[in-house]
Amino acid sequence: MNTRVELARDEAAPGVLVQTLEQAIDAVVVVDAQGLVVFFNAAAERFWGCSRIEALGGNVSALIPRGLDPNPDDSASEHTDGGVHHLAGSSLDTRIVRQDGQERWGVMSVSTIVMHDQTLHAVFLKDVTHLRVQDLEHRLLSMSINATHSATCIVDAHRQLIYVNDGLIRLLGYSREEVIGQSPLLFFVPDARAETQAEPELEAILCGQPHEFSALISKRSGQRLWVHVSSTPVFDAQDQLEHVVIVLTDITQSKLHEVLQNKVIGALLKEESLESVLTLLCHEIERIAPEVIVSILSVDPQGILHPLASPGLPVEYSRAIEGLVIGPTTGSCGTAAYRGEPVLVTDINNDPLWADYKHLAQQSGLQACWSMPVRNGAGRIAATFALYFRESRGPDPLHGHLVKAGTHLCMLALEREQARQSIRKMAFYDGLTGLPNRSYLLAQAQRTLGEMAREQAELAVLFVDLDRFKQINDALGHASGDELLRVTAHRLRSLLREADLVGRLSGDEFVLVLPRMNATQVATFLERMMMLLSRPMTIAGMSVVVSASIGISLFPGDGRDMETLLHRADIAMYQAKRIERGSFSFFVEKMNRIAQDRLVLETALRNAMATGNLELFYQPQIDLNSGRLVGVEALARWAHPALGDISPRQFIPLAEECGLINELSQWVLQAACEQLAVWRRQGLAIASLSINLSPINFHNLDLAELIAGQLQRYGLQPADLCVEVTEGVVLSNSPGTCKTIRDLHALGVRLAIDDFGTGYSSLGYLRHLPISELKLDKSFVDDLEHDTSCRALSESVIGIGKSLSLTVVAEGIESAVQRDILKAQGYEVGQGNFFSLPLPGQAFVQFIDSVNAGAAACNGAGALCVGAGFSS
Ligand code: C2E
Ligand code: CA
Ligand code: CA
Repeated sequence: MNTRVELARDEAAPGVLVQTLEQAIDAVVVVDAQGLVVFFNAAAERFWGCSRIEALGGNVSALIPRGLDPNPDDSASEHTDGGVHHLAGSSLDTRIVRQDGQERWGVMSVSTIVMHDQTLHAVFLKDVTHLRVQDLEHRLLSMSINATHSATCIVDAHRQLIYVNDGLIRLLGYSREEVIGQSPLLFFVPDARAETQAEPELEAILCGQPHEFSALISKRSGQRLWVHVSSTPVFDAQDQLEHVVIVLTDITQSKLHEVLQNKVIGALLKEESLESVLTLLCHEIERIAPEVIVSILSVDPQGILHPLASPGLPVEYSRAIEGLVIGPTTGSCGTAAYRGEPVLVTDINNDPLWADYKHLAQQSGLQACWSMPVRNGAGRIAATFALYFRESRGPDPLHGHLVKAGTHLCMLALEREQARQSIRKMAFYDGLTGLPNRSYLLAQAQRTLGEMAREQAELAVLFVDLDRFKQINDALGHASGDELLRVTAHRLRSLLREADLVGRLSGDEFVLVLPRMNATQVATFLERMMMLLSRPMTIAGMSVVVSASIGISLFPGDGRDMETLLHRADIAMYQAKRIERGSFSFFVEKMNRIAQDRLVLETALRNAMATGNLELFYQPQIDLNSGRLVGVEALARWAHPALGDISPRQFIPLAEECGLINELSQWVLQAACEQLAVWRRQGLAIASLSINLSPINFHNLDLAELIAGQLQRYGLQPADLCVEVTEGVVLSNSPGTCKTIRDLHALGVRLAIDDFGTGYSSLGYLRHLPISELKLDKSFVDDLEHDTSCRALSESVIGIGKSLSLTVVAEGIESAVQRDILKAQGYEVGQGNFFSLPLPGQAFVQFIDSVNAGAAACNGAGALCVGAGFSS
């Protein structure tokens, strides 16, 4: 503005000048040398809120209390130069209080005018009251924005930062000069932008949508922060985006927990392994703080360190840590675990804690390490959580948050692992012995098989079944049975090499899986194993000896999968048990056929019992002196429609194994009683009938009652029946078997010991047993002619029998020579094919008729007649 006023000497000039001043937008007040107001324009009237009539002639100080000097400090502003009068100065903050009390602010400029030797001052006042108010508001706003902890910035329509508050400067560490004019993208971590999906969110904000989101940003130092971002767009009168106000709030602490927790818990829920969960945790932390390397070690109960996860460390470094024992100077982690408190080493190269390990760290470029002990639910230090730095330094607050969140999650993962292991223990291990159960053993073994296949190595599967465990369990009680199984499990485990497996299948069955073993090596192993198993063990104060029958199958010869190998070892075990308890047997293909046949037979036997394909045959027992019939033994026969005759030596054990024996014996009992009743009705003089019962029948506590029932049903006396059992039955300790024997004896049914001489009964023992008959085993009779020891045995058996007043029956007599030897030794009763083969009921009647006829004809030498007539 040209403020110089040249007053023309022309008379017309003042009029023009006055009019110009009158119409000026700004307030104009002209003052004479005495300070009296000589001119006051319309704008001045509006500004001061008074009319010119009131103002003219008054002193200017009434209008402008501070006087006309607008800028007292600016001494250079006022000078006179050759009659040219200059602007005296200007000031923004000229404050006027109007008569009505209102406050006005003006920018004042004062010019000096010389006119007709008179000096006048023209005061120009521009009303800036509204600007002044706005400015004040701005200043207050700025002060309050700066006072908040939030970081605030303002972006203009060109997406450039035009304002940042102190909070933002403090939060991010940039200076104002560095950021003003930049894009706010500067703060947002480039790789995190896409990953946290901040990119579209930011775009939305800069386009003027009011919006909120959280994002990872980067300080000037590179350190990362989680912030909550909220924006408010500002539009102009034309609805064009003018500014965007963005407020950032530091939520690192809570967000870290949330983000890490979400990821880690997500992985835990997905049942990922401990290692992969912790590796994920390491990766996440390193993403937030790229300057750190995370390492998580487990500390076992023996205080030994094992790396769990440290994806950022070289493999050799972790390998070197494996197996270190915690101690007072074992680097940061070993020491932290030892002391039970965090250990910070800011300079690995010069810290005594690292003296023995710094070479490792140096090789990997590690300079500082901050390690935290992690306690499990039980309070034991189970792990360490450490941050390594590549420079010699300490942690900053972010690292503090990371470690806090990290150790917490690490603990969660460890606890989950512990829970998982105890669940696994329950699901995969046998509670009694602590050995793997069937399914777990099979799974483990299948894995081992895979290894053997790759190595082309052999493997042995041993199926171990304790002998007579049921009897021991019955005799000593279940608690003792359990103890026996535990001791056995312990013994088996003590035999294993590292890669060997042992598990308990069920009851008294154990399975061993021995990788890299051939048949010869297994035989050596078996020797040790059977020796160990047969050592006496003390159970419930008693010395107990157990034996086991063992079946062996070999990979790959006997099968390539665990199912087959186990099945075949099981078959071999049955075979061993059948041949001799306490022995072992290798699987041979023949057994498989036998086992398959057995399956077929089992079904057929069930059918035979249902359809009446079973029959009883009868073999006479003959008085060796008179040749007369003394008794009859009933022997079961099975004529299979397709397979032909099947021997009871085959189907009786089968019935025992598959649980059919009680049913079968009941059928025998009923059929035998019925037959005897029929014969008696026919008038045949048959003194007694013997039936065979299996040891298993004696577990049935109702046996005596059953027998009594059948005898009664057919009008027989208990003395008409003799029950043949093996030595094992009468010598049994089982309370059930003992009771049944007592009940039978009380009923009056006679008991015979079958196959006598093959067991171990002593004379003293027999004395106390409720038996009335011994049957000399056929094997001794077979060799009587040629084997003197057989003769000696048969002689002692008749001796025992006579001394105890028992009937002794010699079984399996096939020749007159045998009969004569036995007769000479004092035997009175004989049975065998020499006299008669076992015969069907009908044929037996004919036999008796002929015996009686023969006896009459031969006049007392009936035995000869019988022998001649029926043994060929
Ligand atoms: P065991 O009780 O010792 O029966 C005698 C066996 O010897 C019978 O065989 C009989 O036929 C056979 N035998 C008799 N005299 C001679 C002879 O002079 N020479 C030869 N070589 N053998 C002779 P079997 O009938 O085959 O029975 C075999 C075994 O099966 C029986 O041996 C018995 O333990 C069992 N058994 C048979 N029937 C039954 C039954 O109904 N119930 C039960 N639980 N077992 C039975
Ligand atoms: Ca018999
Ligand atoms: Ca016998």
